[in-house]
Amino acid sequence: MELVGNIKNYVWGKKGSESAVAELAKSNCQDFVINENEYYAEMWMGAHASGPSSVKSTGEDLQSYFSRYDKEIIGGHDTLPFLFKVLSVRQALSIQVHPNKAEAAKLHAERPDIYKDPNHKPEMAIALTPFKAMCGFRPYNEILSFCRKLPPLMELLGKNNAESLSQGLQGLKVCFQDLMTADEQSLKTCIKEIYENYTDVLKAADIYNIFQQINRDFPGDVGILCLFFLNVLRLQPGEAIFLSANEIHAYLQGDCIECMACSDNVIRAGLTPKYKDVETLLKNLNYEAAPASQKSFQPIISDSNYKLFSPNIPDFAVAQITIPKDQDKYSLKNEKFGSILLVLEGERTLKAGNLPEIKLHKGSVVFIPGNCGERVEFSTVGDGSNFVGYFSMYNSFLEKC
Ligand SMILES: [Zn+2]
Repeated sequence: MELVGNIKNYVWGKKGSESAVAELAKSNCQDFVINENEYYAEMWMGAHASGPSSVKSTGEDLQSYFSRYDKEIIGGHDTLPFLFKVLSVRQALSIQVHPNKAEAAKLHAERPDIYKDPNHKPEMAIALTPFKAMCGFRPYNEILSFCRKLPPLMELLGKNNAESLSQGLQGLKVCFQDLMTADEQSLKTCIKEIYENYTDVLKAADIYNIFQQINRDFPGDVGILCLFFLNVLRLQPGEAIFLSANEIHAYLQGDCIECMACSDNVIRAGLTPKYKDVETLLKNLNYEAAPASQKSFQPIISDSNYKLFSPNIPDFAVAQITIPKDQDKYSLKNEKFGSILLVLEGERTLKAGNLPEIKLHKGSVVFIPGNCGERVEFSTVGDGSNFVGYFSMYNSFLEKC
């Protein structure tokens, strides 16, 4: 069943046809017209109430379709346990964490106006274009070394606090809390002094351009100084990061696909015009530090056609499918809980069990029912071309382990 994704025009998104979201939406649906003055930030593929996809042939929203249909198409669930997205990031997204299941339920019960969703939201991003993000704390000594090279930062945190970073987690906790609760004027002064007098340190750490970009978009924001606390990752297309509960992160720039537990639960603390809940963030945060090199998330299965990114949670997994031009056929096992396929490039026909064939092209978004048969088969159309697509699905791989 072909779907049309739900487009979100948040202002941090890329503009007009520079946005991968807009390009895919246009390829998906001939009627979609790209407005070059509009921001296209996200495309949601799934049944989440805040932005359900619709069935292409009828326009019905996916959740209402699930509600009146045999639940076996999603393995007996009431809805899909995951939400699949494409993101096109022009401006940094908020410094954030996602609470674990128990915290999410508690926050929702206490403050449903802010925390609209009771579910946890582990998430995974796979780069479509070169993609930058902040993710997890830098090793403690790396942060301390920034403090020593940047006297304005040392002054903001206090010398004793900053030096306590050499003692690890407790020192980091104190310093990061001081940073996140510093008053506006001190932050502004610190950022200004670093920007005016310490460009050599920024350049040596390869964060000068990012510092400039964030400072332009969010002048004086505490998130700028987070660059010295958090790893800055540069993912190449096809590379992934996984963000488990309470792992601090902020996407900075680029296009990616993202898969997450079906939830919208975010605790924000900087780089956003939205509500900031610094206290809750600091309380929940995972303060473990690790080098950037440990942040890349590797597929557990990887061959020339199939790469499976399978985090250690049941809610979702993502598989990348690549079929080269000269390969006429490719098939894989159908997922019993249903899956969503997004096509990034190439054309193929798709046959799932005894359902009618679908012609796939760039931008196709297809829901494949869990009960339609054992195999999903791809066949070449015409002269063939390289084919790349991503499947999002329930992480039934965990059950097999
Ligand atoms: Zn997030």
